Amino acid sequence: LEAMRKRVQAGEQVILLQNRRGFHTVYHCRDCGKSYQCDDCSVSMTFHKKAGELRCHYCGKSAAPPRQCPYCESYNIHAHGVGTQQVEERLTLEMPNVRLIRMDYDTTKTKNAHVRILQAFENCEYDVLLGTQMIAKGLDFSNVTLVGVINADVGLSLPDFRAGERLFQLLYQVAGRAGRGEKAGQVIIQSYTADHPLILMAAQQRLREYYNLELAARSNLQYAPFSRMAMLRISSKDEAQAQEAAEEIGRRLRSAVTPFIILGPAQAAVYKIQNHYRWQILLKAPRNNIAAVEKMRSVLKMLITDKKAISASVQLTITIDPYSTL
Ligand SMILES: [Zn+2]
Ligand SMILES: [Zn+2]
Repeated sequence: LEAMRKRVQAGEQVILLQNRRGFHTVYHCRDCGKSYQCDDCSVSMTFHKKAGELRCHYCGKSAAPPRQCPYCESYNIHAHGVGTQQVEERLTLEMPNVRLIRMDYDTTKTKNAHVRILQAFENCEYDVLLGTQMIAKGLDFSNVTLVGVINADVGLSLPDFRAGERLFQLLYQVAGRAGRGEKAGQVIIQSYTADHPLILMAAQQRLREYYNLELAARSNLQYAPFSRMAMLRISSKDEAQAQEAAEEIGRRLRSAVTPFIILGPAQAAVYKIQNHYRWQILLKAPRNNIAAVEKMRSVLKMLITDKKAISASVQLTITIDPYSTL
């Protein structure tokens, strides 16, 4: 805040990035610690202040904010989280004279809204641009001397092998927004794990170093680009049948003498979506081991043609070289 005040007083501009990836305002019970979830999907519902309702981002279902915790019946249940709206409210309270514009999903719904916002900011009609990751890309404002990132680490804990890469990309891009003009820039990143190499390297614009680090980790763990991967997703409305099928497919894969790696079956990161219970199996074969890649291909082909492996109420989808494992 102090740093922002100084910049604004000097007539310079500030970009504030609210890292919301996987982070939303949810209703949280202070007695049992659980958050209010969608009945049909195993994810927390997000509170939308304007509409005054909770929404599920997986199936679109909405619900009224609860007064009572559905799990322990406590009345000690509150909205919790830092969204761009809360940051905006807090900032206008702390710095009442600051000219602030917010750019996020809600303020860019109308056509060309984002162009208008960016133009107004470039013309110095505003001191502070506050927004989600959509403000990070390719913006070039010569008067911006301070970039702040709120909650930098939320992306680090996602159970996905590309989560780190995405977070680095975001931080690297936004950190690069500061000091594009003649005045020197400053980057402030708020994080609970400030010594994490990813965050340090992004803040200091050490792209090549991060690239080498990430590649080494992927090579050790045999992830893309070093491996061909196949993601098997098994889902069913019947919880027991989904698990049975996942285990049966796992057994079949392992019984075929395999030169490739089999991870799982495991419950998907989001276990239930629209009342479907989801399991996943991940296959990896080193890219340079042609025999293993071929074997993986033929085993998968067998699995698809052999309908007996799974019952009719179970769906099996196979994604080759998935972009994400969420
Ligand atoms: Zn509770
Ligand atoms: Zn849902």
